[in-house]
Amino acid sequence: MTRIRYNESFSGRFYLNLLVSGAAGFIGSHLCDRLLAEGHSVLGLDNLLTGSRDNIAHLERHSRFEFRRQDVSKSFDASGDFDGVLHLASPASPKDYLGLPVETLEVSSCGTRNMLEVARRCNARFLLTSTSEAYGDPAEHPQSESYWGNVNPVGLRSCYDEGKRFAEALTMAYHRTFGLRTSIARIFNTYGPRMKLKDGRVVPTFLDQALRRQPVTVFGDGTQTRSFCYVSDMVEGLYRLFLSEERYPINLGNPVEMSIREFAEYICRLTGVPFKAEYKPLPADDPKKRRPNISKARKSLGWEPHVSLEDGLRKTIEYFRPRMTFI
Ligand code: UDP
Repeated sequence: MTRIRYNESFSGRFYLNLLVSGAAGFIGSHLCDRLLAEGHSVLGLDNLLTGSRDNIAHLERHSRFEFRRQDVSKSFDASGDFDGVLHLASPASPKDYLGLPVETLEVSSCGTRNMLEVARRCNARFLLTSTSEAYGDPAEHPQSESYWGNVNPVGLRSCYDEGKRFAEALTMAYHRTFGLRTSIARIFNTYGPRMKLKDGRVVPTFLDQALRRQPVTVFGDGTQTRSFCYVSDMVEGLYRLFLSEERYPINLGNPVEMSIREFAEYICRLTGVPFKAEYKPLPADDPKKRRPNISKARKSLGWEPHVSLEDGLRKTIEYFRPRMTFI
């Protein structure tokens, strides 16, 4: 059993002492907000390689939040008594991990090992955020957790795909060997405020281009598909999974699928600009189809996404607009 402490100010709701890596990242910072709102205490770690202090600036004076600049791939002192360890640290956009292949492999391997060791020492719950990239360019569609994937082990994306597959294997090894209560989330494309406008991913890139009235850069012929989950839905899924008894990987993502060309047209309609595309070559190993089968998450976590693409994108635009500089 996870040790549960009672916090009177939360009228009997339990609160936990939690360690979160990647706390200054896009999803990590939103998860910290949620954990704090639930009454828990959070020590957030981040080396700020791809994360940003701006994402957690509002937490600077929070009494239950502490931030440490720390590369979790290196050995570090985390001498606290933690009830839960949540490992989110990793470059996650293709542009970031293609530019940082060694660091990406290190955080999935050494970083995961270091975080698992903290969990083992404290007998804490452990959550790993893995990825839909674990399925590679999938031969099964939609992807369910039982599908083993189609990954190029030496391709450009392998630093991320194989890194996360290793992290999953290591997490399962700790569960089987030490009886650690581990959970693994396979996160599908997620978007929302605090993404970096220039991180190269399709949502910020298309929004940035449309708001500047520039042509949107569609890679390949745009027939490849993705499905987009708003960050608050993702955080709800991660929190439920963290508290669950589910030990095997679970897909978290939005099953509404569209082609990238359709998505480009949708963004242009939403931002009120005529659709104009600049076609560019499809990056190597870019998955042709991606859509999560979320039956398992529905059944075992009672979770499914609720935020519509339109509502989610409007909130994301609200966040980006004041941060854009128009010359
Ligand atoms: N994409 C695109 N134009 C861009 C950026 C991305 O057409 O400017 C495509 C990319 O080739 C991929 C999809 O959009 O098929 C999603 O890319 P993203 O980088 O957001 O994440 P991925 O799903 O590949 O991890």
